[in-house]
Amino acid sequence: QNLARISDRYQQMIADLNLAPNEASNRDVLTGLGNRRLLMDRLKEESERVTRRGQGYTLAMLDVDQFKQVNDTHGHETGDRVLIAIATTLQAGLREYDVCGRWGGEEFLVVLPDTTAAEGLIVMERVRQNIAELAVRTDHDAIQVTASIGLSAHVPGETFSMTIKRADAALLDAKRAGRNRAVVAAVSD
Ligand code: GH3
Ligand code: MG
Ligand code: MG
Repeated sequence: QNLARISDRYQQMIADLNLAPNEASNRDVLTGLGNRRLLMDRLKEESERVTRRGQGYTLAMLDVDQFKQVNDTHGHETGDRVLIAIATTLQAGLREYDVCGRWGGEEFLVVLPDTTAAEGLIVMERVRQNIAELAVRTDHDAIQVTASIGLSAHVPGETFSMTIKRADAALLDAKRAGRNRAVVAAVSD
């Protein structure tokens, strides 16, 4: 009945999306979040805004910890439900003007406009805790997961690809340091 509820919500979402067909190509079909295409568009917009107004942004790359284990233990379908729950939690924890999307697989990217790394860290720490407190129910279990997060503030003059690269490096540091944590990239990384 839980699955049916998710399915209902999903159908509703598709119906909503159909109201704006040109939006559908920007959506991830599993989670309803923006997809990589939408994120790339937002990153281009943010880059132009930086050039015009000098407002810096921060990026956060979030990767679900040991997610392969979730699939292996509970099945791919339950894994999908966990991803949907994480997407919902992520979106709910962000501010109105932040944009999050599914970067791919079990990775999500957040664009935090007009935000310093220190401010971004506060937002993403809250998200990390919300995810750690999630319990996705199946008939037998309540599945708990954690996520690791890498943050990077855009450095004047660098392309957004470079900013993403530094967020990825910080994410790797978070994994190496034991997962379930958020790490801010060094400017020189
Ligand atoms: P780490 O903590 O190092 O990130 O470990 P991990 O297991 O999360 O990382 P790994 O890259 O080994 O595994 C990612 C897994 O995510 C493997 C892949 O099958 C699963 N995955 C990716 N996309 C989806 C999806 O849409 N649905 C489901 N159920 N699983 C997915
Ligand atoms: Mg991954
Ligand atoms: Mg992972």
